Amino acid sequence: MRKYEDTYQHKGMRMRLVNLLREKGITDERVLEAIKHIPRHYFLDSAFDKIAYEDRAFPIAAGQTISQPYTVAYQTQLLEVKPFDKVLEIGTGSIYQATVIAEMGATIYTIERQRKLFEHNKDFVFRNKYPNIKFFYGDGFEGLPTYAPFDKVIITAAAPFVPPKLIAQLKIGGKMVIPVDEGKHQRMLRITKEADGGTTEEGFDNFSFVPMLKGKNG
Ligand code: SAH
Repeated sequence: MRKYEDTYQHKGMRMRLVNLLREKGITDERVLEAIKHIPRHYFLDSAFDKIAYEDRAFPIAAGQTISQPYTVAYQTQLLEVKPFDKVLEIGTGSIYQATVIAEMGATIYTIERQRKLFEHNKDFVFRNKYPNIKFFYGDGFEGLPTYAPFDKVIITAAAPFVPPKLIAQLKIGGKMVIPVDEGKHQRMLRITKEADGGTTEEGFDNFSFVPMLKGKNG
């Protein structure tokens, strides 16, 4: 059984990470507060304990990654998360991103296509603390029609295109934050669903994600 400990050292490293994110341009204090609160080292293999608060991505199971803290903060800030928002996430991975959104008071429905990760996540250390995280095994391209519509949708893998079914599951006035492939990198887009059902698109910085793949694995 793994022992989870959040020491003063961890808290200190987390404060430094939050200051770094601020320097890099993250301004949403609620996002920074959530990151300050969540022990990121719990989401990583214990071998990474000492470096868990460096601003970098790390490998997790099934050849996947936990996103870089800056990327998590950037996407969450663009999503403009509000308490009681109903959020759909594609790509549960380590659950770190989902936990940041849950800590901000939203309910998050998160989908993972790798069975191995999904099974592993059943032992989530904060299972009781965040009943507002709902876990699903499936193909994110399909979304979750049963639970739609959503206030927000966040995609945390490199999307080859904007999946039409996910736009359909967005509320009017709702927002989607999605990194869309442009070859070598992905451009972060924020898409807003307008009253007439159409969409408007804003473009932001470039990032590098693992690919969003069709179908389930396992
Ligand atoms: N949000 C995660 C980032 C994980 S990396 C975190 O905070 O750690 C992206 C994840 O998306 C991987 O786990 C990958 O398996 C998953 N993924 C890729 N394509 C998917 C799809 N079509 N549906 C659901 N999950 C997908």
